Amino acid sequence: MTLTSLSSEELRKFIADKGLPVYRAKQLLHWIYTAGCGDFNEMLNIPKALRCTLAKTTVIRSLRLAARMKSTDGTEKNLFSLKDGEFIESVLMFEGSRRTLCVSTQAGCAMGCKFCLTGSTGFKRNLAAHEIVEQALFTRGRLLPGSDLTNIVLMGMGEPFENFENVREALMKFTSPAYLGISKRRITVSTCGNAAGIREMGRLGPDVNLAVSLNATTDKVRDKIMPINKRFPISELMAACREFPLNPHRKITFEYVMLKDINDTQKDAKRLLRLLNGIPSKVNLIPLNPYAGSRFTRSTDKNILGFQSLLVEGGVEAPIRKSKGADISAACGQLKNSKIYSEV
Ligand code: SAH
Ligand code: SF4
Repeated sequence: MTLTSLSSEELRKFIADKGLPVYRAKQLLHWIYTAGCGDFNEMLNIPKALRCTLAKTTVIRSLRLAARMKSTDGTEKNLFSLKDGEFIESVLMFEGSRRTLCVSTQAGCAMGCKFCLTGSTGFKRNLAAHEIVEQALFTRGRLLPGSDLTNIVLMGMGEPFENFENVREALMKFTSPAYLGISKRRITVSTCGNAAGIREMGRLGPDVNLAVSLNATTDKVRDKIMPINKRFPISELMAACREFPLNPHRKITFEYVMLKDINDTQKDAKRLLRLLNGIPSKVNLIPLNPYAGSRFTRSTDKNILGFQSLLVEGGVEAPIRKSKGADISAACGQLKNSKIYSEV
C-alpha cells in the first residue's frame, strides 16, 4: 500500500486498525507532507519497531526518481517512473525568492497541440492524485528548510481539466494545512481551453489561479494549432473566462506562444485586446521553445516587442516569459518521457 494514496482519515483508520495510538497518524502525516520525508528511517519520533513494520507492509510514495538534470540557469528537471512503467516529468524553477514547481497531471497528453512536444508524443494515462502530489513531495524533501517550495503550477505534461477529479484532490492536498499547506494564491492551473472545466472550477473551486493557453485570436488559426478549439471555439472559451469568478485584484493569465507568421501580427494583438475586453487579465508572451522535428519557428524579437507594445498600450500587462531550462528540454512544451534522456 502507498501511504500518499490515503486521506488523513484513511491514515488514522489504518493506524487505529493496527491498535496504535492515533497520534502516530499525525506524526506520519507530518513526516510525509510537511517534511517531505521519503524514508521511514528518518522518522525519528516513531519507534524503530513500528518503522520496520511500516516499511515491510507499506511504501511512502509510488514515484521513483529515475533521473535529474540541472540547467545552466539553475532549473532542475526530474524524471519519475510510475509503478506501471510510464514516465512523467516535473520542473523546478528559481526566480528571486520564488521556487516554483511545474507538475504534470497526465502521462502524455491527448490534446495534440501542434507546437507542443508533449502533445506530439500522445496520451498514456491520467495520473492518480497521489502521483501529482508526490512530485511536490520529492522537491520539498530536498529543498533546505527556509527555502521551501513557494509556488506550484499545473503546467507540466497533460491537460488538468481532462483529469479534473484527481487534480482537484491533489489541489486539496497542496493547499490544506494538514498536508502541504501552500497558499491558493500561489497555485495555478493551466488549461488549453476546456471551457467546461473552467466553468466547473468556477462553480466548485478550489479558487486557485487560472491560466488559459489561448495562443491564437481567430478560430481559423486556433483550429489548426489547437484541436481543442473545435470542441470549445474562442467565443465559448472567452465566455467561460468572462463568467469565471475572480476575487478582487486577481486576474486570469492568458498564455500566448509566439509563432512566426502564425499568430504574431499587429492585427492579432488588436484582436487579442478586443477578446480580453472586460476580463481582468494578464498575458504571458512565450517565445516558442523549439524541439527537433517541430514545424514552427519562434517569432522575431521585433514582432514580439511590437505585439507586447500594443497590449501594454491597450492597458494589458504582457511580460515576455524568459525560457527556463531550455538547454535540458525543461521549458514549456518541451516535456516528454524517458526517451529524451537517452537522446541527451
Ligand atoms: N495543458 C496545459 C498545461 C500544460 S502546457 C495547457 O495547455 O495550458 C503549458 C504551456 O506550455 C501552455 O501555455 C502551452 O501553450 C505552452 N507550450 C506548449 N508548447 C510550447 C512550446 N513548444 N514553446 C513554448 N510554449 C509551449
Ligand atoms: Fe497538452 Fe498543453 Fe501541450 Fe496542448 S499545450 S498538447 S494541452 S500539454
